[in-house]
Amino acid sequence: MNNNNSLMADLLLPDIDKLPQFYEELYPARNLPEGARVTRIAPSPTGYLHLGTLFAALVNRITATSTGGIFYTRIEDTDKKREIEGGIEDIIDGLNRFGISIDEGFVSGTEESGKYGPYQQSRRAEIYQTYVKELIRQGLAYPCFCTAEELEQVRNEQEAQKLRTGYYGKWAKHRDISYTEAKAFIDEGKPFVIRLKSPGSEENKIVFEDAVKGKIEMPENDEDFVLLKSDGIPTYHFAHAIDDHLMHTTHVLRGDEWISSVPKHIQLFKILGFKPPKYGHISPIMKLDNGAKRKISKRKDPEAAVHFFAEQGYDSECVINYLMTVAASDFEDWRRANPDASYKEFKFNLKKMSVSGALFDENKLTDVSKNMVSKLKSDEVYAKLTDWAKEFDKEFYDILIKNPDYTKAVLAIDRDVPKPRKDIARWNEAKDYFAYLFDELYIPCYELPENIQKADAISFLEEYKNVYSPDDDRQAWFDRIKEIAPKIGFAAETKQYKASPEEFKGHAGDLSTVLRIAVTGRRNTPDLCSIMQVLGKDECINRINAAIKSI
Ligand code: GLU
Repeated sequence: MNNNNSLMADLLLPDIDKLPQFYEELYPARNLPEGARVTRIAPSPTGYLHLGTLFAALVNRITATSTGGIFYTRIEDTDKKREIEGGIEDIIDGLNRFGISIDEGFVSGTEESGKYGPYQQSRRAEIYQTYVKELIRQGLAYPCFCTAEELEQVRNEQEAQKLRTGYYGKWAKHRDISYTEAKAFIDEGKPFVIRLKSPGSEENKIVFEDAVKGKIEMPENDEDFVLLKSDGIPTYHFAHAIDDHLMHTTHVLRGDEWISSVPKHIQLFKILGFKPPKYGHISPIMKLDNGAKRKISKRKDPEAAVHFFAEQGYDSECVINYLMTVAASDFEDWRRANPDASYKEFKFNLKKMSVSGALFDENKLTDVSKNMVSKLKSDEVYAKLTDWAKEFDKEFYDILIKNPDYTKAVLAIDRDVPKPRKDIARWNEAKDYFAYLFDELYIPCYELPENIQKADAISFLEEYKNVYSPDDDRQAWFDRIKEIAPKIGFAAETKQYKASPEEFKGHAGDLSTVLRIAVTGRRNTPDLCSIMQVLGKDECINRINAAIKSI
């Protein structure tokens, strides 16, 4: 080791007294079975939980789960200026709400667990500086005292000469700075950053196998990029190398905006003597905008914020199952074969991810949700719906909890049957859907189908209210209507009516529509016999009387 390099290291980072060896021993290899993958997400708390972050978390989580590995979170908060208050809580609590379990790192907004921490970059400055100091000692990193103006000048000159911009080769002004020069600058109080002394050349190519996108070839990095900023805090590149090495990440699955940085990262791992992780770059979720595919945008699209789904009342499990269809092209086939299994049992393969970016399709989310909501038990619907309403629709919440047994009976209509109805995709549809079952929300509407005369409807209802019995089962309930039909000129059987429509005013089915309108104000509802049982005889008769008056 060159003595001047050692002096330089002590000059630049005088307070660092540990060697990398210390941390290598502090964070030993994980004791995991062969093939187990260690994955993570490393969000910056600069905004609220974004669909892209949730998606990346799911891909990382399921990769770890499928291999018996570990999924952890690490907070990248090196940019304190852009941090927002409550950002960590929002992201981590959001992941928890969506059932993305976190094995290690920030497991809640305020709680850290695991032996590889701290899991927050702002608390790891000493670790980064220890490794940087070692690179300086080895002559692989150096201080750069260039001011913003000087760097700008270099850029302008490169542009004028039509050259690639950046701090590399002969443009790297302080690449060979001596100890004496550096000391003089420091004595003057000049701020400095620490840069990598890149051993790479643009002429050389690096090739790596991306776990999602396949083989990728790029020029080697020759830029002396910044490792430590002037405040002693690392850049993303350096923190990534140190953290993912010390936390023993096997697979870095991150947004594909990082692909162009891979040559820097691979070079860093090599220089530091670390085994690089396997990289997989996830394409962003896209959206169709006037026929053209584009990235979902934080600014333009409400669905970019995960909060949107919560507010609309999409059940978190439905959203995750939908996102699985986006993540893996073979998920839907698996789902058809395993309709009731948890998505966690799916064997996820990164090679089944879309390379160009899968489309966000709200219709498909709606289908997945309707299907899953239809399978919930009424107690589960009660719990989920009231949870949602408590946060987003207080008026509805108060109505729902006023009489829990009644509400549960409402929610049980046409549920727990072999072919449940698939009407509701999200909880914000429930208020309108169930409105006629709650006095506070019921608005009568007596619009009869065109083929039914008012007088016939009234005669039918008059007859019907005398025979209605809540003890009837579905068959007996309909038989009562069929019995009345011929008395007022309607066919008891549809077949009869179809054979000679001129002989009848309509058929029993039309009369059940009249009854439906009288009792619910709607032409389409779930099973009317069950609805009437839940409403109770008195309420049904009251509603029929009101209809007779107003039709
Ligand atoms: N903070 C980075 C981001 O949010 C993390 C990228 C990574 O996963 O390494 O994009």
